[in-house]
Amino acid sequence: MRIVTTIRELRDLLEAQRRADATVGFVPTMGYLHDGHESLIRRAAKDNDAVVTSIFVNPLQFGAGEDLSSYPTDPEGDAARAASAGATLLFAPPVAEMYPQTVVTEVSVPALAGVMEGASRPTHFAGVATVVTKLFAIVGSCRSYFGEKDFQQLAIIRRLAADLSLPVEVIGCPTVRAHDGLALSSRNAYLSTEERAVAPVLRRALTVGAEQILAGVTDHDRVVEAMEEVVAAEPLATLDYVEVADPTSLQPVETCHHGVRLFGALRLGRTRLIDNRPVVEADDMDVPARD
Ligand code: AMP
Repeated sequence: MRIVTTIRELRDLLEAQRRADATVGFVPTMGYLHDGHESLIRRAAKDNDAVVTSIFVNPLQFGAGEDLSSYPTDPEGDAARAASAGATLLFAPPVAEMYPQTVVTEVSVPALAGVMEGASRPTHFAGVATVVTKLFAIVGSCRSYFGEKDFQQLAIIRRLAADLSLPVEVIGCPTVRAHDGLALSSRNAYLSTEERAVAPVLRRALTVGAEQILAGVTDHDRVVEAMEEVVAAEPLATLDYVEVADPTSLQPVETCHHGVRLFGALRLGRTRLIDNRPVVEADDMDVPARD
């Protein structure tokens, strides 16, 4: 695996690979890689000849008071994980390489970014959409892999790639979870031992919501209340939101049915966790972590 830090070098290397007819897979990340990221890289390696993983903690997607300055990093560990999962190129640009001047261009997808995560973090998705569009412009024609763990982000990126006719096939991949159900996240590193023990409550709440719908409850507010009660029983956890929404429009549904998706976010101390799940008996689309 080759590590590159400049846009020029990455473009030159990919151009040479494409001349040799290589297909390109691309996995954008913010680093501090875990089994969830690795699952995307493995999938990209299975589908493509060359695999680019980017590591860039994008300042544009952090709001004031969020964890930009404390976001965990582990450059050596990341390089080892990316290589062992099958990445052939690791793109790790410094901020000055990505943003040599103040960025005054913004890509936004307001129809999908006003609810849930977008309501709680108003500038977040424009920052994500802008950096991902820029990364797609740098990497060029490719298949790009994103986790369902960040389902709203996946929906936004799918839509922007389609609306702007970007030469990118966006592929969603299942959420990798710890054995107690907690979705793996770089931010789990912030959790104290006590908070970590409580963290699976979010997954449990969403599962209760799915069970309600499977049992025939169709009223939105009843399902939301059942999920809220699960979180309310854990004094350490502060609920941000739980929602029942359409998986394409991301809008809340009035009438719940098997085609909806359940979403939630909560805080444990200084850590904000998110998760989502479909309405199915056993969520067999999800994958257990290897460690
Ligand atoms: P991040 O480094 O948090 O920006 O995530 C980079 C990519 O990894 C995004 O597409 C995420 O959705 C994906 N990802 C993060 N956590 C998981 C997980 N537990 N399972 C699957 N994909 C994940």
